[in-house]
Amino acid sequence: MRKALYLILTIGLFSCENEKLPVTPGSVSISNVVLENYVNEYTQEVSVQVNEDNITINSTGLPDHKTPYWGEGHEMFEAFPGSNHANMNTSMISFNYSMTIPTNPNESSYKEETELGPVGMALNGVPIYNDYEGGGVLQENAWGTFDASGGHPGPREDYHYHSEGTYLTVNDAELIGFLRDGFPVYGRKDMDNSYPDNLDENGGHTGPTADFSDGIYHYHVSNEVYSTSGLYVIKSGAYHGTKGTFTQ
Ligand SMILES: [Zn+2]
Ligand SMILES: [Zn+2]
Repeated sequence: MRKALYLILTIGLFSCENEKLPVTPGSVSISNVVLENYVNEYTQEVSVQVNEDNITINSTGLPDHKTPYWGEGHEMFEAFPGSNHANMNTSMISFNYSMTIPTNPNESSYKEETELGPVGMALNGVPIYNDYEGGGVLQENAWGTFDASGGHPGPREDYHYHSEGTYLTVNDAELIGFLRDGFPVYGRKDMDNSYPDNLDENGGHTGPTADFSDGIYHYHVSNEVYSTSGLYVIKSGAYHGTKGTFTQ
């Protein structure tokens, strides 16, 4: 009993000391922005749980906008853009996605490369993928199956985004989601309507955004056209912070 009390006092002392440390730009709390922005008004299936250290976002992964992958006859069906066409999947299905990210994301000294699979989650609960597909980097056989939002389902009928597109972000400064390390990702522009010119090799930099006026590390959709696709890929390279879990 006395030992327990001593432990609590010691922890208390340490946290007081921590509170006096200057706040670094990377240690801002993202809870309010996550709570205010994660919503899927169509499926009503996005929920957020905030704890002291972590935030968990749950979703089905189904979008809140039109796409041909809802299937012909569905109220949210729309045709493919241009000459694009369905991939091996003509439809998409629900998952029980759960992404857990740090409440106070911080830079990691080791920059882990992003891999195939979900690297983050858009505000409507749809997973964000990087510039890789099952067979390697994105090729025309993949981007030729994108809908107008830069999304398509993978082999498991798992819908996800790779690039900028309608309903998500088009040449703007919109917050589109958070990556697995807890840092936000924005469209190609900063909030002053300029294109950032000091992005690091992982597509991010520290500065103010519409949601974090005191500044935070944030990613941007790439402002370079990807290969011959005419598209702007959301994320490539490594995470700035330590990635959290993304389960299904
Ligand atoms: Zn894909
Ligand atoms: Zn920026």
